[in-house]
Amino acid sequence: MSLHDLSVAALAAKLKAREVSAVEAAQHFLARSQKYADLGAYLATDAEVTLAQARAADARIAAGEAAPLLGVPIAHKDIFVTKDFASTAGSKMLEDYRSPFDATAVRKLAEAGAVTLGKLNCDEFAMGSANENSAYFPAKNPWDTSRIPGGSSGGSAAAVAARLAPAATATDTGGSIRQPAAFCGITGIKPTYGRASRYGMIAFASSLDQAGVMAHTAEDAALLLSAICGPDPDRDATSLDTPAEDFTRELGASIAGLRIGVPKEFFGEGLAADVRSAIDAALKQYEKLGAKLVEISLPRTELSIPVYYILAPAEASSNLARFDGVKFGHRAKQHGDLLDMYKKSRAEGFGDEVKRRIMIGTYVLSHGYYDAYYLQAQKIRRMIADDFQDAFKQCDLIAGPVAPMVAWKLGEHGKDPLADYLADIFTLPGSLAGLPGMSIPVGFGAGNMPVGLQLLGNYFAEGRLLNAAHQFQQATDFHLRKPEGF
Ligand code: GLN
Repeated sequence: MSLHDLSVAALAAKLKAREVSAVEAAQHFLARSQKYADLGAYLATDAEVTLAQARAADARIAAGEAAPLLGVPIAHKDIFVTKDFASTAGSKMLEDYRSPFDATAVRKLAEAGAVTLGKLNCDEFAMGSANENSAYFPAKNPWDTSRIPGGSSGGSAAAVAARLAPAATATDTGGSIRQPAAFCGITGIKPTYGRASRYGMIAFASSLDQAGVMAHTAEDAALLLSAICGPDPDRDATSLDTPAEDFTRELGASIAGLRIGVPKEFFGEGLAADVRSAIDAALKQYEKLGAKLVEISLPRTELSIPVYYILAPAEASSNLARFDGVKFGHRAKQHGDLLDMYKKSRAEGFGDEVKRRIMIGTYVLSHGYYDAYYLQAQKIRRMIADDFQDAFKQCDLIAGPVAPMVAWKLGEHGKDPLADYLADIFTLPGSLAGLPGMSIPVGFGAGNMPVGLQLLGNYFAEGRLLNAAHQFQQATDFHLRKPEGF
């Protein structure tokens, strides 16, 4: 089996047994990344930096160290800041920006032994659902390169699906891990809000942003997620003091009797028939594994779109104020007085979608509109979270589609941002409630494109979620399918 077809767990075992060195593994994936550069998955690679890290990992292996990911090469979404690579957040605003420190997730993975292959493409400041808002170039879907990989973590999903990295980090504010994982036929998880530190994640909407991971298997996702979670009280005030956990521990438990809630609002008219039939088949598979399906209701599902698209831009307008050409970011070369310099720097540095969100956010927070929009949205957000708590009285996990359709064609949504926003309908409720969520590949729809099943758990149910995904993957092989040509 080629190195790039190995799971993280299998690769880590080979590295530990010294059947392959960290340098060889890194070189293998760097060569593939170069060969498939047209996919647009990577924004930055630097062989010298990667190989230096790999040599250090080989030295740790030789010294008999037992870190869980020793020598495993991975890549990071360009939202995470890194000392050794530029960190752009997919924006011209931060072209060539070098952070003086590593994000906590990056640091923790490095401590666990991971080697960094490079930085992955994403929508500008993680705003988008198709990776087409990247200021550099769009990433493409390896299953059909005329289609989008999803977003905002499109580069992460494309890289893992095309075997340009065995696993990757990603972030999820309103679906950016689950949706691209679904569109690219891989496994992705976002933990409970607050379980992973946001330190060093370039902020979009701070009350929603969460770090997570993408890989092929639930087991690999569990390994990586165990490495990044844990309290970070000195650097992220919203990080919870719940201790780090070994999420692989629950893997293997029987799911007989597990109650899976199926929200009726997720199966309405908007759901494409091809996606629906793959989801129905996956639910049947869960019944075969002994789970019980329970119909539940999440009555405010539709409201999650207006609520999210008020709250996320509101927070973004505040977070992005720091990019003024003085504190951070691109500074216009030609300008008049200070105010003019701010205006020109921001006009040149930000793309259209980011500007749109800053304007919406500023509007909903402004005097006279705050009560009508922002405050109202906050109240409904709380009700959406309460709806989940009602649902979890009847079930242990919730399952449904990740997105209403399979990955669409590049350029298909054109200049219509609403088309992108509407496609977020099934991922936004879980984000607004701060719940852990996953996507696992469960079949194929139109154009032979992958379909993902969304699994949502109650707070801190990551272990249970990962095991439910693992049990499905023990009985099926969708997670092992490969796009042709990779
Ligand atoms: N598609 C959503 C948005 O554009 C979610 C993005 C994300 O989770 N980062 O805001």
